[in-house]
Amino acid sequence: MRVLYVEDEKFLADAVKHNLEKQGISVDLAHDGEEGLEKALMDIYDCVVLDIMLPKLSGTDILKRMREKKLNTPVIMLSALSEVESKIEHLDKGADDYLAKPFKTAELVARIKAILRRPNIVDDTKMNYENIVLDKTNMTLNGMQLTAKEAEILTEFMNSPEKLISKEFLLAKVWGEDGMGEDNYVESYISRIRKLLKKAHSKAKIITIRNLGYKLVGKNV
Ligand code: CA
Repeated sequence: MRVLYVEDEKFLADAVKHNLEKQGISVDLAHDGEEGLEKALMDIYDCVVLDIMLPKLSGTDILKRMREKKLNTPVIMLSALSEVESKIEHLDKGADDYLAKPFKTAELVARIKAILRRPNIVDDTKMNYENIVLDKTNMTLNGMQLTAKEAEILTEFMNSPEKLISKEFLLAKVWGEDGMGEDNYVESYISRIRKLLKKAHSKAKIITIRNLGYKLVGKNV
């Protein structure tokens, strides 16, 4: 689970990040609208929290651009403008929830967790492709135990079979900007996952698309 929080009040941003990370949710911060938009458009987040009043570009503009780009990431808007009209306007524009400032950190954390619990975000616990079954709750592949990172990477492939997944995407999604992730982390994990797939007698395999990334494909591809 990875959340983007775009907030120019750094003290508040740090408090929310600290609180969510204690509960196992990774948080990337952006402190102005341009940085926020750039990160949101990476499409690696399970939830985006947007303050409305931001330097450079407002939260409302970020939301608009995200929806124009057909990103369906759930968005929670934050605003000191607590009028009902403002709330309706933002929910109309494609926000999923709205919280008026000032709020208690715990309240925002509860709203984020409620969104992450939605069935369209938290996928079914078991994912299938060809003859492989990934159990996300128990972190197993055809019954074999995986590490958390192996399970996360495999989830990305199972979410988008036969689609190109770039190394940069995996690095950002699994290790995050705060991580010490490097290109060769991805390579070594892909090689571990390939061995696991072989051990699981998988008919699916991960192929390398030279200079671009990887694809999970079935036996006939
Ligand atoms: Ca602000």
